[in-house]
Amino acid sequence: MGELETAVSRASDLLRQAKHAVVFTGAGISTPSGIPDFRSANTGLWNKDDPMQVASLSAFLYHPERFFNWLRPLVKNSWQAQPNPAHYALAEMERAGIIKAVITQNIDTLHHRAGSVNVFEVHGSMRTLTCHRCNVTYPTENFIEAFLERNEMPFCPQCQKLLKPDIVLFEEMLPAAVWSKAEEHCRKADVIFVVGSSLEVSPANSLPYMAVLGGARLLINNLTSTHLDEYAEVLMPYNVVEIIPLIKQVLCLNTMPH
Ligand SMILES: [Zn+2]
Repeated sequence: MGELETAVSRASDLLRQAKHAVVFTGAGISTPSGIPDFRSANTGLWNKDDPMQVASLSAFLYHPERFFNWLRPLVKNSWQAQPNPAHYALAEMERAGIIKAVITQNIDTLHHRAGSVNVFEVHGSMRTLTCHRCNVTYPTENFIEAFLERNEMPFCPQCQKLLKPDIVLFEEMLPAAVWSKAEEHCRKADVIFVVGSSLEVSPANSLPYMAVLGGARLLINNLTSTHLDEYAEVLMPYNVVEIIPLIKQVLCLNTMPH
């Protein structure tokens, strides 16, 4: 067996033995779907604009036009993107009972669209917008065409205040309820599987570390190294669309193809 096959087989063994396997995903699982990692240097999305100037709560409140102009290409890109074989394989592993939860830093909703159910989006998601005056949440779908095609900003149908996308902006707290459930899963985890995250974004990166401190065995599938590599039992520095479907295949051979 080559290095890749050995790693896949070890990862599959650990997942098969796990009672509470939890997956933690980052931008790297969505790059094969054509969604750029907007934090990484080479995509340039952060280089053009100072993130605090465009992606912050103050930008939304005081310069909404600039905020939504910055957001528009990101929303368009995510909206048109499709889940890839790695997203689908994780969803199938959840259905098979192998994975108990997916914690993601991604706001692109691709895990849900691939069929994952127990998903915790610690940086929020593009699926909904909220009016913070009425405290009512609306599906993004209702506003998407006007926003993308006619450059209209989303206003609350009841009070006409601007709706805030439910993504976590700079200067904002992470969603508390989602965060505490994610923590709960990490405390329970006996295997934590990091997929497509360099674990550079804090405080989200404290979740896998919490699992490791609690005794969970660590698997990492990421192209670049992370600060938790030394704790990992299996390191898989390969493309996620290559690795995750292989692991699923090894684990779910007896399930019906769909
Ligand atoms: Zn309102």
